Amino acid sequence: MIEEKVVTLGLSSREAENRKKKFGSNELIKEKKKSAFMVFISQFNDLMIWVLLASTVVSALMGDIADAITIVIIVVVNAILGFVQEFRTEKSLEALKNLAAPTCKVIRDGDMKVINAVDLTIGDLVVLEAGDRIPADGTLSGGSGLTIDESLLTGESVGVNKDTRSGHSSVFMGTTILKGKGTMKVTAIGMATEMGKIANLLQNIEEEKTPLKQKLESLGKVLVFLCLGICAIVTVVGVARGNDIGEMFLLGVSLAVAAIPEGLPAIVTVALALGVSRMIKRNALVRKLPAVETLGCTSVICSDKTGTLTQNKMTLKEIYIDNKVYNLDKDNPPNNIVLTKSLVYCNDCNYNFSEKTMDKVLHGDPTETALVKGLFKDVKALKNFLSFHKRVFDLPFDSNRKMMSVIVSESGKETCYVKGAPERIMDRCSHILEDGKIKPLTQTKKKEILMIVDGMSNRALRCLGAAYKEGYLVKDESLEKGLTFIGIVGSIDPPRDEARDAVLQCKLAGIRPIMITGDHKNTAFAIAKSLSICNSNDSVLTGEDLEKLTDRDLEREVKKAKVFARVSPNHKLRIVKALKKNGNIVAMTGDGVNDAPAIKEADIGVSMGISGTDVTKEASSMILMDDNFATIVAAVEEGRVIYDNIRKFIRYLLSCNLGEVLTMFLASLFYLPNPLTPIQILFVNLATDGLPAIALGVDPADKDIMSQKPRKKDESIFARGLTEKILVRGTLIGICTLTSFIVGQYFGFDLKTSRTIALATLVMSQLIHVFECRSERHSIIEIKLLSNPYLVGAVLVSITMIMSIMYIPFLQGVFQTQALNLLEWGIVMFFSGIIATINSVFLYFKTR
Ligand code: ATP
Repeated sequence: MIEEKVVTLGLSSREAENRKKKFGSNELIKEKKKSAFMVFISQFNDLMIWVLLASTVVSALMGDIADAITIVIIVVVNAILGFVQEFRTEKSLEALKNLAAPTCKVIRDGDMKVINAVDLTIGDLVVLEAGDRIPADGTLSGGSGLTIDESLLTGESVGVNKDTRSGHSSVFMGTTILKGKGTMKVTAIGMATEMGKIANLLQNIEEEKTPLKQKLESLGKVLVFLCLGICAIVTVVGVARGNDIGEMFLLGVSLAVAAIPEGLPAIVTVALALGVSRMIKRNALVRKLPAVETLGCTSVICSDKTGTLTQNKMTLKEIYIDNKVYNLDKDNPPNNIVLTKSLVYCNDCNYNFSEKTMDKVLHGDPTETALVKGLFKDVKALKNFLSFHKRVFDLPFDSNRKMMSVIVSESGKETCYVKGAPERIMDRCSHILEDGKIKPLTQTKKKEILMIVDGMSNRALRCLGAAYKEGYLVKDESLEKGLTFIGIVGSIDPPRDEARDAVLQCKLAGIRPIMITGDHKNTAFAIAKSLSICNSNDSVLTGEDLEKLTDRDLEREVKKAKVFARVSPNHKLRIVKALKKNGNIVAMTGDGVNDAPAIKEADIGVSMGISGTDVTKEASSMILMDDNFATIVAAVEEGRVIYDNIRKFIRYLLSCNLGEVLTMFLASLFYLPNPLTPIQILFVNLATDGLPAIALGVDPADKDIMSQKPRKKDESIFARGLTEKILVRGTLIGICTLTSFIVGQYFGFDLKTSRTIALATLVMSQLIHVFECRSERHSIIEIKLLSNPYLVGAVLVSITMIMSIMYIPFLQGVFQTQALNLLEWGIVMFFSGIIATINSVFLYFKTR
């Protein structure tokens, strides 16, 4: 490790900048995006709009110029609203893609830095590790045990071994490292890479449609026919009653334009996109939009322990050697050179000796830095100690073997040092070093040591065993046997404080948190208990137990399991499958390369932003930018909020549209004059369907959202009484509007005034109803009005709009309205408020 750092200087930042100017950025040219103008034009991509515009032209030709202009203005304003919405959605989705952009580790100015892969340039020196996706084409300049998956380029799924010597030293952009580590010098970037040559093939990946969007699209089609049918009846009845054909046709078309909920699928995307940006603020980066919908259904969260449930801040606490346990809070570490060598030489942490304090000098895996920090207080002494060795071979740590080994040369003599999970180490030891003497390791002694490990892990310590070997050393995996045992060390990694609350929140929300860890059973249980994930040893299963269970047995066991300890990544896949078989919606975290299959299999695959590998990130549907368990729970909450909000505006839009259609339909059924003119209908659509509906999409969470059970994945969006709510409320809006019109007529007001009353009643009913839609369980009185300022703002805008067309003389002419007096406003407020009032009182007492 150390010698590597001396040779590998890489480019300077300035040189890299110059080269980037010369060679361009390291990206594959993307498909051209839709221009703003095209997005705007696509707003008119709706048959009914064209029919409306065509009939407007006809009515203009027949002399109704003012009406025609008004209709065109309304259509354009509506298109602008749609455009702004779509453009913002596109922008936030685009920003999302950039956030998820791949990074890589390069040596610049002699130091390792993490940069965006697009900034990589020719000649850069890239550090490669298992799990990385290779960011450009290049040649290996150093490395050990590198196996690369090139299936993306060659279709060959078996990993290819690469090294600097045997002529297999070329590596390619987009391929992934399965094992080993190394460095490469970049030789080609962007479109000049092998990947760039086939990039065109990859450019046609379709945007995934979410299941909900698909369902709404098919629902939309049904509604189109229903609406068209009703509009046709209204038109025909009107004509039969002797009204002008042209006028009735325009009325029918306007009604169709207003009532067909063409924006429903689009608004789902808006709500998802807005939700996704809220999730980013809470450190959860969603990679696949459909995941947002599934998140709300999560019934089990399987989480890694280290770093996700715990802080990943390890401190060496206890050392067992020569039959004695040292507690480092009280005792000094034992002065045992072989133990120190095994823990410090067999260690992959990076050192930056230009710094003065140990904290700044050490970089790397906390399990490993904790060892060095626990044994060395002085930077100079450490540097001196390291200078006595040179690593000649290593078998890196992997979570299946659960150990790592190195062969180091000390003044020409080679020694092998090994560290790893204590029982695995012991299995490979034949001898033990005790008080400077090497003795055979007896079964009794093994048991005694395992008891010590039990004790340490009961105290929540993460234990490592250390061993060594001298003499003839083979340089392959068979190295790890016939070892001499040295001792055990235990580090503490305290649980995250936020995790404790998040676990409780999960339980309240009907979600079962499960800990899955490579760590020892006792350590896992101790941590799980302190986080109240489980309180009895019975709910802990180990990898060994899993091996004995058939898939069928596992399905049964997994129902009550809360902790899985000493598992390997392939166990994770079995666990996910068993949980899914039981009907659970599973979120599963993972960080290493081997976790990718389980992450892919899970309903929500979750990867780690800080410690995760590229491969797991790409397999996942969500990245935790802070590696924190609480973030998963926050994301689940957001998932529920988004789904709730989608239900809110579906409820709002559909009941309002039903109200509009029914007003006109019932009037024609009872042979009444049309309560609204075409322009008024279009106005209602503009004033109430647009802004208030979007504002519902950003509504904050209902206060008890996390005390409900998760919803079923196949549950219809209209489940739990939404259809009834829409039908009842829509019908009532229609009846109230029509009644207000009839009352106007009954009082002997002229048609214009009665229509204005009906128009105002319809708009006000909808603007009141929008607040009712904010909660399915609570009445308007109980919801804090100002908690959604956007909605209040949107409603105020709509009220201003309706007031303007009623009181500004010019607009009165255009919209054929009349200024209302107090009595007339009384009628409006009575009919628009009565249902909401009754409903609130009813709900208020129901929830008491
Ligand atoms: P998770 O992150 O899945 O909760 P984990 O990080 O504890 O679990 P692994 O990284 O697979 O799981 O570690 C399993 C065991 O391997 C540890 O308990 C420890 O004994 C040993 N181990 C961990 N890191 C190293 C290392 N760098 N070198 C040697 N042994 C290690």
